Amino acid sequence: TDLIRKDVADLPTYNAGLALDQFKAKYGVDCLAKLDSNESPLGPSPRAVQAMQKAAAGVWRYPDAGNAGLRAKIAEQANTTSENVIFGNGSEDLIGALFRATIRPNDHVVTICPSFGLHEFGAMMFGATVTKVPFNADWSFPVAGLCDALKSKPRVLIFSSPSNPAGPAISEQEFRTILAAADPATLVCFDEAYVEFIAPDQQFDALAILAETGHPGLILRTFSKAFGLAGVRVGYGVATDTQLITAMMKTRNPFGVNALAVAAASEAIDDTAHLARVVAQATSERDRVAAALSAKGFVCAPSQANFVFFDTGAPASVLVEKLRTKGVLIKAWQEAPYENWARVTIGSPDENDIFLNAL
Ligand code: PMP
Repeated sequence: TDLIRKDVADLPTYNAGLALDQFKAKYGVDCLAKLDSNESPLGPSPRAVQAMQKAAAGVWRYPDAGNAGLRAKIAEQANTTSENVIFGNGSEDLIGALFRATIRPNDHVVTICPSFGLHEFGAMMFGATVTKVPFNADWSFPVAGLCDALKSKPRVLIFSSPSNPAGPAISEQEFRTILAAADPATLVCFDEAYVEFIAPDQQFDALAILAETGHPGLILRTFSKAFGLAGVRVGYGVATDTQLITAMMKTRNPFGVNALAVAAASEAIDDTAHLARVVAQATSERDRVAAALSAKGFVCAPSQANFVFFDTGAPASVLVEKLRTKGVLIKAWQEAPYENWARVTIGSPDENDIFLNAL
């Protein structure tokens, strides 16, 4: 029948990985190292878990749809006002809200390649055409390519830094160069899902730079990665422009941030000691895993995140399927020309050893 819109039927399926309960049934072994979704092996702050337990008794009430407490907390941290902050059911929800609010059919969106799938499909869902600018061969950010693509004055430029799945982070100078090439009407969506893992001397205040240069911008952050709360689904955005947040508050799912997520995120923000432990382990293990991969002859992209992207030397699904029979779950990339590349999340030291031994 013609019930489903053709552009929707033609969309690629979001590759959300393999559920753990399907793993044993399919591969006959327990999953010993689940390293496919960039989750944190240290889990959430114990304070966040306690806060959820406490909040559980109150779940018969709807949560505050305005997320006032959380927005105020982030506004203070980001040196802005609550009106410029929005929370969502994971940052994926906010990517959707952004595109619903801004994209008209045949609009143009620019991103990088390889990239987080929703940056592309999320815009295609509303009829946009998407230009994907490939990384440079040395895995530096494709600054010249992006500047060139921006000449078409796209509605939105969207990319993540550190980049999922590749791993490199953009430098402040590169970011400024790209902004200088962007039309004043192009919205710059800068997805910082993995920002906590960047070396401190390479971090910069992207929101301040967007404000300073007068570009409409949206920064996205999530509690799913360094904060270890992927299962409760909570992320946020901070914009240079209140108008954008007002619009996205209309296009997001109204009660998308549930009561347990509110409680957990609020405590997680405050537990900076837990975050520091997570980042210290993830970054030292990342460098160890990358060195071990290189020593085995695999070419790796340089990573500033909690994962490593590496060339398996053949279609990546070959290696990924073999690793599954040994209880190791990593992610094969499917996007040309990176079909030989796979992404491994940095797990606990034991999980990383299981991965390296299986390899
Ligand atoms: N942005 C990037 C770059 C990601 O890698 C992810 C998760 N894989 C997300 C956004 C979405 O995260 P969440 O919806 O869990 O906040």
